[in-house]
Amino acid sequence: MAQRYWNEKIEKMELAEMRKLQSERLVAQVKHVWDNVPYYRKKMEEKGVTPDDIKSIDDLHKLPFLSKADLRDSYPYGMLAAPLSDCVRIQSTSGTTGKRVVSFYTQHDVDLWEDCVARAITAAGGTKEDVVQVAYGYGLFTGGAGLHGGSHKVGCLTLPMSSGNTERQIQFMMDLKATILCCTPSYAAYIGETLQEMGYKPEDIPLKAGIFGAEPWTQAMREQIEATLGIKAYDIYGLTETSGPGVAFECEEQSGMHINEDHFIAEIIDPDTGEVLPEGSKGELVFTSITKEAFPLLRYRTRDICILSRGKCSCGRTLVKMTKPMGRSDDMLIIKGVNVFPSQIEEVLIKDFKAAPNYQIVVDRVGTTDTFEIKVEISDDMFSDTIKDISTLEKKIGTDIQQILGIRAKISLVEPKSIPRSEGKAVRVIDKRKLV
Ligand code: ADP
Ligand code: ZN
Repeated sequence: MAQRYWNEKIEKMELAEMRKLQSERLVAQVKHVWDNVPYYRKKMEEKGVTPDDIKSIDDLHKLPFLSKADLRDSYPYGMLAAPLSDCVRIQSTSGTTGKRVVSFYTQHDVDLWEDCVARAITAAGGTKEDVVQVAYGYGLFTGGAGLHGGSHKVGCLTLPMSSGNTERQIQFMMDLKATILCCTPSYAAYIGETLQEMGYKPEDIPLKAGIFGAEPWTQAMREQIEATLGIKAYDIYGLTETSGPGVAFECEEQSGMHINEDHFIAEIIDPDTGEVLPEGSKGELVFTSITKEAFPLLRYRTRDICILSRGKCSCGRTLVKMTKPMGRSDDMLIIKGVNVFPSQIEEVLIKDFKAAPNYQIVVDRVGTTDTFEIKVEISDDMFSDTIKDISTLEKKIGTDIQQILGIRAKISLVEPKSIPRSEGKAVRVIDKRKLV
């Protein structure tokens, strides 16, 4: 299939030209924020920076960072850079890691966001001939609104399903011959599992592609979803603070997501020191919105950990690529004094199961001691294995976890379907310690 682009000029722009465009936009954006956002102006003044100091993208590092704490401090209007009467929409974070953040959009901001999503849909092979089933939640969450708008822009027939009601999803998918499914990867896996139980084979399913994001997912999970649905599964990334999904998107090479650099300048920093790291380093992703009017965040710390690379991509796009963020810096749990990332546990499970199982991490405290349990769901085939086989597997996982993390976890293999399925972002960690 010939590669299609939504905006070929931008998506294939030479680096020098892109840097020039970014510089012009950055200079204008810094002035806009200085003039309209007293909160950020104060931060700049504290750092001794004025708009005159920002002459090109090379001066970006001089600007102060913004964090989620700043957005909470300035809630709701403190970061607004356009008159409220020019705003046409708000969206809000899903609150995965705390109090929700509210972001504002002018019509221009909605248009540029939808344009970014249109690039993602086109990169996944979408055209106006496609039927796009949007099974991300609609409402304040950016998933539904973003993919919906992008799908309209491309001219696809859009099915505004929202998440949940899986039987109806499947009925519409079949009756209306949906060709592209958009939802969280955990919900895609659940839809796939349900279709399989209903007796559908991948070749019976009209879908050809899926655009899945809003939460971390592994390569093993991708392969599983692709096999059950008979599709190519593309990753899409974004966050409410920068507009929503579509900040970065995967192409047919499926090896990292191209960042829409004409709208967002990406940097990787050391999360502890704030130092900007060279290309290829693993660190925290920081975004500067250079085209948004209402909510233009400068140097916003996403807390997502990934790597940027400018290696040549077979799709022809020159936009920088980010690796899948496999967890946030604040996903980290401290259990018995040890730092634990859920993604480390997932890696062990994928290795021991040779697939991506459903699992849940339960942390609690008895007296002054932390308890740490990993519940892992076994498949129907394994369920019929002997107790001995099951306890051997439990022991193996236990040993592997201890080797990786240095602490012991109670491993409980649980019955098929006993861990609740997610229709939105999966809940992998239940930390009961926070409840007291
Ligand atoms: P919340 O922080 O409440 O979850 P959002 O709904 O705006 O708010 O979610 C944005 C976050 O979701 C990102 O910062 C990132 O951690 C995660 N995310 C989004 N897309 C992806 C993706 N494709 N892969 C991994 N994580 C993702
Ligand atoms: Zn590419």
